[in-house]
Amino acid sequence: MGAFRSDLLAGQVAFVTGGATGIGNGIAHVLGRHGARIAIASRKVENLERAAAEFDAAGIECFYDTCDIREPEEVERVVAGVLERFGSLDILVNNAAGNFPAPMRKISYNGFRAVVGIDLLGTYNVSKAVFEAWMKDHGGNVVNISAPFEGMGVSLQSHVAAAKAGVDSLTRTCAVEWGPLGIRVNAIAPGEIAQTEGVARFEEAVGTRAEGSNPLGFAGATDDIGNVVLFLVSEASRFVSGQVFCVDGASGVDAFKLRVEPPTEPTDESS
Ligand code: NAP
Repeated sequence: MGAFRSDLLAGQVAFVTGGATGIGNGIAHVLGRHGARIAIASRKVENLERAAAEFDAAGIECFYDTCDIREPEEVERVVAGVLERFGSLDILVNNAAGNFPAPMRKISYNGFRAVVGIDLLGTYNVSKAVFEAWMKDHGGNVVNISAPFEGMGVSLQSHVAAAKAGVDSLTRTCAVEWGPLGIRVNAIAPGEIAQTEGVARFEEAVGTRAEGSNPLGFAGATDDIGNVVLFLVSEASRFVSGQVFCVDGASGVDAFKLRVEPPTEPTDESS
């Protein structure tokens, strides 16, 4: 059983970019299970069709369209399609992203541009289109899916880390500029999420399995991200905006990566 009422988002519409696969798909299912109507968009129509059939089977109303979020005209067309189908657009989750782990010197100019183009400019394109077409007049909630790299150098991820730093910055600026219009903007930085493309590609590149390499000792599930999105788009977080939340089993704050057993007896040597 979830922590929230199943009709929490009844009457609301949520647009999740990249919502046909991985974390985005998990987020869309959590929002749909709590009453939202769902819109998803990405490039591969076969993934969109498969995902739409699954939403249908789960009793979740879904709109989908193909779109490359690097292209503002395509984004505007999809946003207009969502509004035509559902009549509102209350929640935006900027989840779509590209990634291929490689050392910076091996990344081509095109490859670096592609990742920044999808992760950062794509987030800007979709946010702006949704703002102009709906949220500036009606308010809403935006959640950007980032990565837990803030303040760090990140081997094999120079393009993603640079782009996500921009996403975090955009999150704070949009929260400040759009707050007076009733729009909250937050970000989630997922740690290792099991059975996702992101983790599979990284494990292949480094040749080891990452599973559970955090203090909690297990990989997160897509629902773990979906549930935090749900909190962030609900009234329970109505005073929360402009924040980046790491959802990573404490791996980002784990300085020494030691797994120390707690002592069985108190060891207070001062007494
Ligand atoms: P994924 O399954 O590969 O999802 C990425 C989605 O984005 C796909 O549905 C893809 O669909 C879509 N997409 C890519 N380029 C696009 C474009 N130009 N236009 C429109 N859609 C595009 O990856 P994931 O692992 O679930 O990652 C989802 C998000 O979580 C990303 O923002 C990622 O950076 C973040 N994240 C993931 C992890 C993890 O553990 N997996 C950790 C930290 C952060 P098409 O290819 O069909 O376009």
